[in-house]
Amino acid sequence: MKNITLTERTLPVKGEYDIIVCGGGPAGVAAALAAARQGASVMLIERNQCCGGIWTSGAMPWVLDHKNKTGILAEIRTLCLERGGMIHASGSLSCPTEAMRLLLEELLEEANVRIRYGTLVTGVQLEGKTLTHVVTESKSGTEAWGAKRFIDCTGDGDLAALAGCSFEYGGDDGNTQPSSFIGIVCGLDPEEVREYLASNGGKPKFKALIESHGVFPSYGMPSLFHLGQGVFALMSNHGYKVSAIDADNLTRKVIEGRKELHAHVNFLRSLGGIWRNIALAGSSDNLGVREGRRIRGVEYVDWKHLGSGGRCANAVCRATFCVDVHAPDPAKGNVIADQKVTTKPYDIPWGALVSAERENLLMAGRCISGDFIAHSSYRVTGNSVPLGEAAGYGAAVSIRENIAPADVKNVPFFSTEN
Ligand SMILES: Cc1cc2nc3c(=O)[nH]c(=O)nc-3n(C[C@H](O)[C@H](O)[C@H](O)COP(=O)(O)OP(=O)(O)OC[C@H]3O[C@@H](n4cnc5c(N)ncnc54)[C@H](O)[C@@H]3O)c2cc1C
Repeated sequence: MKNITLTERTLPVKGEYDIIVCGGGPAGVAAALAAARQGASVMLIERNQCCGGIWTSGAMPWVLDHKNKTGILAEIRTLCLERGGMIHASGSLSCPTEAMRLLLEELLEEANVRIRYGTLVTGVQLEGKTLTHVVTESKSGTEAWGAKRFIDCTGDGDLAALAGCSFEYGGDDGNTQPSSFIGIVCGLDPEEVREYLASNGGKPKFKALIESHGVFPSYGMPSLFHLGQGVFALMSNHGYKVSAIDADNLTRKVIEGRKELHAHVNFLRSLGGIWRNIALAGSSDNLGVREGRRIRGVEYVDWKHLGSGGRCANAVCRATFCVDVHAPDPAKGNVIADQKVTTKPYDIPWGALVSAERENLLMAGRCISGDFIAHSSYRVTGNSVPLGEAAGYGAAVSIRENIAPADVKNVPFFSTEN
């Protein structure tokens, strides 16, 4: 491979903030909101043209593990329900994707967060163990932004990796859970679909229906999710050996996923009956990536902690979701892998959100510090939001009290006791 050497460049520092949040998914929105509500000046940098991450550009606004959560997640729940969302028999919360895009922006604008869309975090400037700036690429070119604290909410841990932090990736064999490329479908009558699934055994029957016609989706449990107002998400494919941090690999998985998604919708329409008008109205802007880097923190959440229902004095939330590993190897099944442990509700400690190696860096969402099995449980969005809220709150307190994030005490517990 040939190399080129870039000429050394001087960059404009386009802004200085108390806190910069990188990534505007469920965790990033909550981090930015919580920090701004504590009086910090906050910038939120997002590569897409909307906030919400998996909820919007990922086409899956379905919130698992939200029931026992307080704070910003409780606010979002109320707003979703006011704007066409629903709570389902399973207890999950959903919201039409477009309603979600708008409501998150409204919350951030109201809190005076500066949102910068279409901007990818691509570099950092360090002084010793402290981050001084992030470098971004966008239509405005290459720019630098300074802050006292930085919060990595990129899901994949991009910021921490750029800052040279250690991380874990995948399971024992280095493989991550498969990706899914999700479709937004319309033209279905929610009542007819509900009745069909209720009277035919739910997801297994949907799978059997598809397979009985010789169509074998790469995700062995194809699922329809009613988001509200007649809008559904269809998750029917798995992209195996996906890499969240390899653009060529991601491109290939998107192309394969899109092909499969169209084939499945066309097939369903060909069945007629309740499927006669089904249409693919949209698809995710970004491939649904279940896991990327898990950044090393001051504390670490492991699978034993889940099995024992671990409690922590410095807990920021209590996760109740099960271990949910989508099998990384299709040779061992294309649904959910054997679960190593049965989860009991467990606490996530503040230290899992604080970088072990950079003094003013925090993480929230799926890139916090934990092992492969633990991640498969705490990764769901009902946990990402309280983790983001804790990171934003704690970052603001650390500035106000002029202490390191690792030394912040009494970050609120954004959950009820169960
Ligand atoms: C297919 C699939 C289905 C899922 N189903 C559910 C479900 O039903 N319910 C549930 O609760 N959870 C579900 N999850 C899990 C959940 O989506 C994630 O774990 C959750 O999104 C984590 O939130 P986050 O904010 O950490 O990350 P994300 O939602 O991934 O958000 C990260 C944000 O950072 C931005 N970003 C990334 N890199 C950069 C960069 N370098 N510069 C700037 N911006 C950047 C992204 O564009 C994105 O907006 C699912 C996940 C997948 C992949």
